[in-house]
Amino acid sequence: MINKVLIANRGEIALRVHRACKEMGIQTVAIHSTADSNAMHVRMADESVCVGPPPAAQSYLSIPNIISACEITGADAIHPGYGFLSENANFVQIVEDHGIAFIGPSAEHIRQMGDKITAKETMRVLGVPCVPGSDGGVATYEEAHTLSEAIGYPVIVKATAGGGGRGMKVARSASELETAFRTARSESKAAFGNDEVYLEKYLDTPRHIEIQVFGDGKGNAVHLGERDCSLQRRHQKVLEESPSPAIDAAARARIGGICADAVGKMGYSGAGTIEFLYENGEFFFIEMNTRLQVEHPVTEAVFSVDLVQEQIRVASGLPLSFTQDDLVPKGHAIECRINAEKLPNFSPSPGKVKTYFAPGGLGVRMDSAIFDGYVIPPYYDSLVGKLIVHGADRPLALARLERALSELVVDGIDTTTPLFHQLLAEPDIQTGAYDIHWLEHWLARQG
Ligand code: ADP
Repeated sequence: MINKVLIANRGEIALRVHRACKEMGIQTVAIHSTADSNAMHVRMADESVCVGPPPAAQSYLSIPNIISACEITGADAIHPGYGFLSENANFVQIVEDHGIAFIGPSAEHIRQMGDKITAKETMRVLGVPCVPGSDGGVATYEEAHTLSEAIGYPVIVKATAGGGGRGMKVARSASELETAFRTARSESKAAFGNDEVYLEKYLDTPRHIEIQVFGDGKGNAVHLGERDCSLQRRHQKVLEESPSPAIDAAARARIGGICADAVGKMGYSGAGTIEFLYENGEFFFIEMNTRLQVEHPVTEAVFSVDLVQEQIRVASGLPLSFTQDDLVPKGHAIECRINAEKLPNFSPSPGKVKTYFAPGGLGVRMDSAIFDGYVIPPYYDSLVGKLIVHGADRPLALARLERALSELVVDGIDTTTPLFHQLLAEPDIQTGAYDIHWLEHWLARQG
């Protein structure tokens, strides 16, 4: 059994992991940069170790410093949270070579899913529906041209090593392909040091729907339904909900079953998310995230489970605590990402939080690490809180979200809270009639 977990992260997710550990009687170790000495995750953890200066590359991403922190404190496991080192196969290998348990999947599975071409091919073989496209990397423009004619325009050129929406270019016709192909390659080379690209059919009005899966590493796996993350700005999720307004129980059981079956056959261990684009009743695999997601609380709300505790149990070699039959979704959950950003341009708004008041009441969860007087450092992600509401049905969840947003106070800095008030007033949001482009179009209309 795991006795002491080092949490290799900061902010709300570090608190989230700490809370899960405490309820299981597990000791926690926080790591922090010099910019985070007074942060709440440091105050709450049983022990803390400073791992370097403010830039993440020298602290939260410093593998030697993190391994040393484990050795100094005697931590026998590491939880990576999301972002930072959570999908770094090399890190996982080093952690395990030091006899420390990594709370997450194997290095091999992370590596396999981190390469988009390998991921797609693996999923295709396992029976997961994929976007039509090239079977692997596309080396020349001529090859891209022949393939695009066969698939039909529009097409999207994507970087094999891509992430965060970078290295993707759409070509609506043959005349746009050459530029799209060359730009995607050069952007990818600059951002990821690798210019390999592949080709996919470009879907015009899909929703982003992702399936939460969990494996025990021994061939058993379940799914925990879907999250609809179609509301995106610059490919970044803004609001997530479960269930999706577009999916019924039959579609959920079908795609969920395919995903659970695939990760079971892989021998996958722990939490994972299989992301799809969904259009005209069809699912198309785009990628798998081999970690806990920011938006995991909406799934926790509808399934009444603790996904972090489940991750820890699986990493300890215990069986899953639920079977597929135990997992019956109840009600509706919505999450808003509250970022320290100034509207309308979403420019970063770090600084001192004068007053913070978290909303509460029935069906309201606020995951945040800020407090009165906290100074948000300029070095990291702008996410300062996640507001999650749960209600018996979607109308109640929406009403509860409006009520909770109006209770939230974050004085001293700008946040994205006003955006959500505006969105909730939109008929399309009220009815759930939105695709992955809806928010960008709406923002453009606001001027
Ligand atoms: P990243 O790893 O950079 O996030 P993804 O492959 O997950 O890249 O794609 C990110 C987003 O780009 C998707 O959520 C979707 O909005 C858009 N996208 C990706 N592939 C396609 C496609 N074939 N058709 C339409 N949109 C796509």
